[in-house]
Amino acid sequence: MSVLVVGSIALDTIKTPLEEHADLLGGSASYASVAASFFAPVNLVGIVGDDFPKEHVGLLKNRNIDLAGLQTVPGKTFRWSGEYMWDLNTRETRSIELNVFETFSPELPAAYRATPIVLLANIAPGLQHHVLDQIESPKFIIADTMDLWIDIAKPELVSLLARVDMLILNDGEARQLTEETSLIRAGKKIQAMGPKYVAIKKGEHGCLLFGEGEFFSCPAYPLEDIHDPTGAGDTFAGGLAGYLARNGGHVTFNTLRAAVVLGSVLASYNVEQFSLERLKTVTTDEISSRLERFRELSRFEAL
Ligand code: AMP
Repeated sequence: MSVLVVGSIALDTIKTPLEEHADLLGGSASYASVAASFFAPVNLVGIVGDDFPKEHVGLLKNRNIDLAGLQTVPGKTFRWSGEYMWDLNTRETRSIELNVFETFSPELPAAYRATPIVLLANIAPGLQHHVLDQIESPKFIIADTMDLWIDIAKPELVSLLARVDMLILNDGEARQLTEETSLIRAGKKIQAMGPKYVAIKKGEHGCLLFGEGEFFSCPAYPLEDIHDPTGAGDTFAGGLAGYLARNGGHVTFNTLRAAVVLGSVLASYNVEQFSLERLKTVTTDEISSRLERFRELSRFEAL
């Protein structure tokens, strides 16, 4: 069972207190599609300019990601630059150059339309709607979003919520969207807006999952060395979507609990190096062993 991933493909410039790197492969769809490809075949829809390095296309091909939906057009690829503070969690956007992204209209090749698991990675909610208009009998639709869209496209985002099965967003965004201080109230309020399931990410503090009247709190894997948190959320979403596809797309709260843990494991690898460098080398054995370590770290016995 395959996953459709639609989102941004970018060249990122990232500054942390200790390092700065320019023109790295980034974008929500790059991280999400590579993460999903560990568990399931992936169909990618995105846009790049004619300056997009061939080695990046090679990386996606090496992961067996279907690129029939990748549009390459004259012009420059979307560029984003961000700077992290000392906590490696707080981030400021330094610049955005939309370039070819400005005219992007995600068009699904005919062969993609019946992809059962759909991941609308972070792009404008209007474009996410346009994707949903083209898909046929999906089994499960996940949407990701960001603070920018809550600021400038809230009506489109709110109407999207009625069309998706799950929303993934971070704690600040959940509070911003619902105007609630409590994340528990925020999660419940978002469910009432449409999605049966909601995952609220809390960076290094893990993630809260809501659904079917139940609640799951997943810790983040404790890491000593974090180099670049960029794309952790997209990697989480991609890993989660891939795991659901691998399990036949039959989604219950229990499958989602496991999917959230696997998404967190993949995200924990992603932040160990800049860009997708760590996702390039991580093996399925490493994923399994960190999953086991995760289980041990969260186990306790009552006294
Ligand atoms: P995350 O760290 O999960 O929030 O995702 C970071 C990625 O989002 C970067 O690789 C950026 O290229 C990409 N990005 C930043 N701003 C936007 C935007 N407005 N639309 C789509 N993708 C974006």
